[in-house]
Amino acid sequence: MEKMFSLEGKVALVTGSGQGLGQGMTLGLAEAGADIIGVGYTETSETKALVEATGRKYDEIVADLSKEEEVYRVVKESLQLVDKIDILVNNAGIIRRMEAENFSDKDWHDVIDVNLHAVFKMCREIGNHMLENGSGKIINIASMLSFQGGLRVPSYTASKHGVAGITKSFANEWAGRGVNVNAIAPGYFATANTAPLRADEGRSSYILSRIPKGEWGTPEDLKGPVVFLASEASRYVTGHILCVDGGWMSS
Ligand code: NAP
Repeated sequence: MEKMFSLEGKVALVTGSGQGLGQGMTLGLAEAGADIIGVGYTETSETKALVEATGRKYDEIVADLSKEEEVYRVVKESLQLVDKIDILVNNAGIIRRMEAENFSDKDWHDVIDVNLHAVFKMCREIGNHMLENGSGKIINIASMLSFQGGLRVPSYTASKHGVAGITKSFANEWAGRGVNVNAIAPGYFATANTAPLRADEGRSSYILSRIPKGEWGTPEDLKGPVVFLASEASRYVTGHILCVDGGWMSS
């Protein structure tokens, strides 16, 4: 069983590895044995130190994934760093909040560029490399708002519905060619992304009251799910969106 979940000898490319959920998943992958290529909008030195403390290798690429040319640079530099990428975690994401009737074009495009366009291109480019190798695991980070409408976040909701769509369409085409494509849909986690919600007492207590577990998730809570989807243990799982939400979707 230990072998089934082991990532010894594997390389994982994780976007948004510098903080929050990306940092938690990066550490989980490293603890399971994977070397990491971490991508951050800013430097990811804290994650690098934490990964290296586990004995694994960590290479950093700083890039703005909202820009098409930067996405292609990440692909190129990653494939120059290693011969083979086994795992891709498309985690980098942003959110903008404003009521729908006043939502600006800029807040629409900025979010779609990072959360959807970059995810599509990373899936296609690194996916092609995986297809050549005949194996690979892609894990996209979706959301409860891949299923629900949310409040004051129309571009985020549209992008995360799109992430679910990308996951299923790529999974369908590549299932028989050795590349599994799945998503994790986190519920409500305590990170920078949700700081405004947690600061709003009304929203925060409503959200908590709806989570059967009665607590916000932490980046540590994604370690097990991401290792499962990255490892041989999930060989027959593809096109799945795994809710890690303390029960939110069933309440
Ligand atoms: P976070 O702490 O704000 O982290 C976001 C990450 O994305 C950061 O590492 C950031 O890099 C990176 N990033 C943002 N814009 C980028 C860009 N243009 N180019 C490259 N990297 C960029 O938020 P989080 O909560 O951990 O979110 C991680 C993912 O989980 C996102 O896709 C988010 O939508 C999703 N999610 C979060 C929750 C939640 O409750 N927190 C729930 C559902 C889904 P820097 O660190 O360098 O700024």
